[in-house]
Amino acid sequence: MPTLGSTTSRAEQAIARCKTLAAFSEDSGSIRRTFLSPPMRHCHRELTNWLLAAGAEVKVDAAGNLRAFYAAEKSDAPRLLLGSHLDTVPNAGAYDGILGVTIAISLLESLQGRRLPFGIEVVGFSEEEGVRFGAPFIGSRALVGRLDETFLNTQDRNGISIRSAIKEFGLSPTEIPHAKIHADTFAYLEFHIEQGPVLDSLQLPLGVVEAIAGQTRMEFVFVGHANHAGTTPMHLRRDAIAVAAEWIIAVERTAHNEPQLVATVGKIEAKPGATNVIAGEVRVTLDLRHRTNQIRERATAAVTKFAEEIAGRRGIKLQKRELLSQQAVEMDNSLVGEIENAMRSAGCAAHRMVSGAGHDAMILAEQVPAAMIFLRSPGGISHDPAESVITEDVALALKCGSLLLHQFANSTAFQKRTYRA
Ligand SMILES: [Zn+2]
Repeated sequence: MPTLGSTTSRAEQAIARCKTLAAFSEDSGSIRRTFLSPPMRHCHRELTNWLLAAGAEVKVDAAGNLRAFYAAEKSDAPRLLLGSHLDTVPNAGAYDGILGVTIAISLLESLQGRRLPFGIEVVGFSEEEGVRFGAPFIGSRALVGRLDETFLNTQDRNGISIRSAIKEFGLSPTEIPHAKIHADTFAYLEFHIEQGPVLDSLQLPLGVVEAIAGQTRMEFVFVGHANHAGTTPMHLRRDAIAVAAEWIIAVERTAHNEPQLVATVGKIEAKPGATNVIAGEVRVTLDLRHRTNQIRERATAAVTKFAEEIAGRRGIKLQKRELLSQQAVEMDNSLVGEIENAMRSAGCAAHRMVSGAGHDAMILAEQVPAAMIFLRSPGGISHDPAESVITEDVALALKCGSLLLHQFANSTAFQKRTYRA
């Protein structure tokens, strides 16, 4: 086991590397690195140098994922997958995604060339955020064989398809089937900043993710009558904005009454949108998330009923449509248990939590036992240049990671739970 002192310097290095990679951006003065953009090539180059020095072989697969393999002591051994994404949102912070990759590299380095009974594959996913094509998880979809022809035709705002972007980067879309995860992969583990305020509010450095919440997104349109704000008496109005307001409060109340449910009305557009005109039409969005599909569906039905009731009572028409219905994903229970053990051995509380945001782990979970370790986000800030991490938290994450490698190395039972295509 590495000493605490060396773990701290490795943590400092993992953080410094995130800052180095932050310089590879499409925008000057801020971080933006989208799918197979020119700065992604520089990012790959830098990561490749570190990975080669750590004793791994490195390649880029046909979906633009950086794939490094640190061989096991025997050639036919199972493999552990460690990874996260290399792309960012516009005006991003330096740690979302990339920290999971630099932590994985630090874990390889801490082995100092020592080989384990299993190989370790480090993946830097090419795309997770969905910025360039409006469709997320391009990288991890390739690993589970879901980067199909239709999906490859998705175009960015300049009319360039995912397929063309892959070719322009010098890769071959026909090779995508070879990007699938190796059949002997026994687990996928992702370190990621929390991107929320929960761990910070509990003053905890780390959390273990036991589920990734499902999401429902909808649009509601309340249609009333636009009219003069001065001449229309209150009892003769069909005010769409007042209906929307009543409904928004009902949505908030619904979420307050159901543990772990989060519901957001993040967008409201009123027409005609003038100070002296009663709103004739209001368009609002709903984003509703819970780890249990049944509860999410029940809550969605409840808020839809509220919209119908409030609109009906106030003589307003209602239109509604579903924009997204994404199922919740449970992380692997045994793997979560292993992480809890490692966290306790590292001397920190094993706090179980649900991720409200989507992650590559939920795509990998379709085919391989998957779990995540969250690191505290100071101030709960992410997707912003102010995003940060605490060195001691990264050191603890590395300690947990090393302990996990040790646990896996001593558990053939765990390694035998291999995925078979
Ligand atoms: Zn991320």
